Amino acid sequence: MITIDGSEGEGGGQVLRYACALSLLTGEPFTIEKIRAGRDQPGLMRQHLTAIEAACVVGGAECEGLELGSNRIAFRPGRVQPGDYRFAVGTAGSTALVLQTLLVPLALADAPSRLVIEGGTHASMAPPFDFVARCFLPVFERMGPRVTATIKRHGFFPRGGGRIEIGIEPAPLRRIECLERGDQVSRGGTVLFASLDGDIARRIRKAALKNLPGWTEDDIVLRELPADQGPGVALLLEAGFNHVTEVVSGFGKLGLSAEKIGATAGKRMAGYEASSAFAGPYLQDQLLLPMAIAGGGAFTSVKISEHTRTAARLIQKFTDRATRFGEDEQGRQLVEVG
Ligand code: AMP
Repeated sequence: MITIDGSEGEGGGQVLRYACALSLLTGEPFTIEKIRAGRDQPGLMRQHLTAIEAACVVGGAECEGLELGSNRIAFRPGRVQPGDYRFAVGTAGSTALVLQTLLVPLALADAPSRLVIEGGTHASMAPPFDFVARCFLPVFERMGPRVTATIKRHGFFPRGGGRIEIGIEPAPLRRIECLERGDQVSRGGTVLFASLDGDIARRIRKAALKNLPGWTEDDIVLRELPADQGPGVALLLEAGFNHVTEVVSGFGKLGLSAEKIGATAGKRMAGYEASSAFAGPYLQDQLLLPMAIAGGGAFTSVKISEHTRTAARLIQKFTDRATRFGEDEQGRQLVEVG
């Protein structure tokens, strides 16, 4: 039985989701203690429960301690069963993070799967749908499996109510190297808003553009969604290169000004465009798991995140595969798995 200290390293929900995925993939049971011990609301929250429950359903697993606020669980994996599944987070908890738990196990199953996941699609601290569909999945598909992703309804914090549909065609995962991103071929952005004054969206766009050298107002469109999907607002900035598309996001929150949302995301995108790295700060930790299961892989990246270092340690516990962090000859961060 593998034992994990949930407060170590980044110490958030990712440790739980990755541990469930790795357990289904390796057949190793695990216990995790001190779940999210350093957080304001420690223990399991609704969205973590949904992800773990989903892993139990899909993976024929048993889990002790599965309740709100729980700080310890024991997880015993079973056999991954592909098929049609529907999971509902019930809050604005992230649909993408439920997918993060299930994707690799189902991508290696012996038949296709279809997932309907309901909850948040555009809320902070999680990949927005656009990041999953435009940044992460195209890189993941280069490893072999085919994955379709459709958004049926947007879900913002705090209401949720979004819905995504995912189709997974399994294939063995192969090692890939993601060192060069290639030439820039596109740039663009969207401010999604629902049940809010359009002036908020315009102010977000203006603040983003102030920080994006070379971008013009025409590059960022304002898209109003049906009022019943709101209230909510999200900024999505996209830079397309030959080999990867980066998606930088910002989300509206009570007390956070439109100017701050736009400026923060604008600066982040400008930083990525000015670098020559393949992976932005969030793609990093999300690539590690499939690469480790593929038997290895490598990518260049911007500054290494604590999420990535924590994911690397967890992967080593389950697979014995080490991740090496170094620099390439151009001074970029180089991450090599396996
Ligand atoms: P945790 O904070 O432990 O629940 O993990 C959050 C996960 O969401 C990590 O895999 C992050 O890479 C990912 N993530 C958080 N914010 C974003 C974002 N803005 N864009 C893409 N991925 C994100």
